[in-house]
Amino acid sequence: PFRRARRAAGLALSDIVQISEESARLKAQGRDIVALSTGEPDFPTPAHAIEAAHEAARSGLTKYPPTAGLKSLRAAIAARAPGPEVGPESVLVSTGAKQVLAMAMLATLDPGEEVILPAPCWSSYGDIVTMAGGRAVFVPCPVEAGFKLAPHALAAAITSRTRWLLLNSPSNPSGATYGAGALAALAEVLRAHPRVWVLSDEIYEHLSYVPFVSLREVAPDLAGRMLVVNGVSKAYAMTGWRIGWGIGPAALIDAMEAVQGQITSGACAIAQAAALAALEGDQEILGQRRAVMRARRDRVVAALNATGLIDCPVPEGAFYVFPSCMRILGLRTPQGEVLEDDRAFCRSLLQDHGVAVVPGSAFGLPGHFRLSFAYSNETLSAGLERIAKAVSSLQ
Ligand code: PLP
Repeated sequence: PFRRARRAAGLALSDIVQISEESARLKAQGRDIVALSTGEPDFPTPAHAIEAAHEAARSGLTKYPPTAGLKSLRAAIAARAPGPEVGPESVLVSTGAKQVLAMAMLATLDPGEEVILPAPCWSSYGDIVTMAGGRAVFVPCPVEAGFKLAPHALAAAITSRTRWLLLNSPSNPSGATYGAGALAALAEVLRAHPRVWVLSDEIYEHLSYVPFVSLREVAPDLAGRMLVVNGVSKAYAMTGWRIGWGIGPAALIDAMEAVQGQITSGACAIAQAAALAALEGDQEILGQRRAVMRARRDRVVAALNATGLIDCPVPEGAFYVFPSCMRILGLRTPQGEVLEDDRAFCRSLLQDHGVAVVPGSAFGLPGHFRLSFAYSNETLSAGLERIAKAVSSLQ
């Protein structure tokens, strides 16, 4: 009989993917489904990035790439690194920011070593840590704390086995965005624990509605044990090109490169050329797209709060809201089902009302749900109308 390896035993398709697939299945049956479940900008990839990919393919950039990334792209990333100056040797280009995270964990974690994950957090973090043999230590960061890790909570979570703190600002799913003061306070705790490294996932940097600041700028003295993760997926609407990168000390980057060499041999060369064009091309779209997202955010927050039973704080970054559905739990649907938890509420929204959102439990904080507003105004209107109708039908 088939037996999974221990490292893969608990892995399943993420809740987010499962919900997307369930939506697709219902759609295929002819149901009218509004999906607000995916973290993917609805904008097109910039035309100059697409053109650069054509040009790269035509001009023969079709061989194995250097394992750590094209020299030109690594240099462009290094030149834009936040905080202390770095050279291209401090940059690893991977197949998406997700692979950067996986390379970092596979290259550094010994069995049972701990990674601190402020929750709610992106559902892949825990699975990547587990797959790499580590232990995910979730630290609850409730709405009262602005969904942010408090310094005392960080200090309390650190043990002799802690290897990494994994910080994500702006955050998926909560939108929580750490300012300079909050980052400085966390850095102060980390200074007392020189063995703990910190991974700063800044993939939503350009989708911050408050001034964005990187931990690497706030705490340059920690750069020697810090990995900054970023990429083109969210900022440039290039999710399908699969290009992300890590910026860190050369010894860490070397170790990650060695692992990557045995997994992909490096990211797609043509996609790297497109990513380079995105970085070097017109940056005005970043501000324009951020303004569009901000307007959507304000609409979505207002509409959800207007239901009277959903409590939706205003996110400071990314393109998700993470409202509480606590006041809905225990209520009964017209079909007679009592909504016991956030999963039941989201299931009912999908099955009974045709709108897909993701339960907070998928991100380590039950009693909430995540709605992505990276969708057109028409789609958002349809989805919000259905949610309002669903809530008003509860008893
Ligand atoms: N980090 C966070 C917090 C994300 O939300 C995502 C995508 O959803 C990623 C990383 C992955 O980005 P990429 O498409 O570059 O793999």
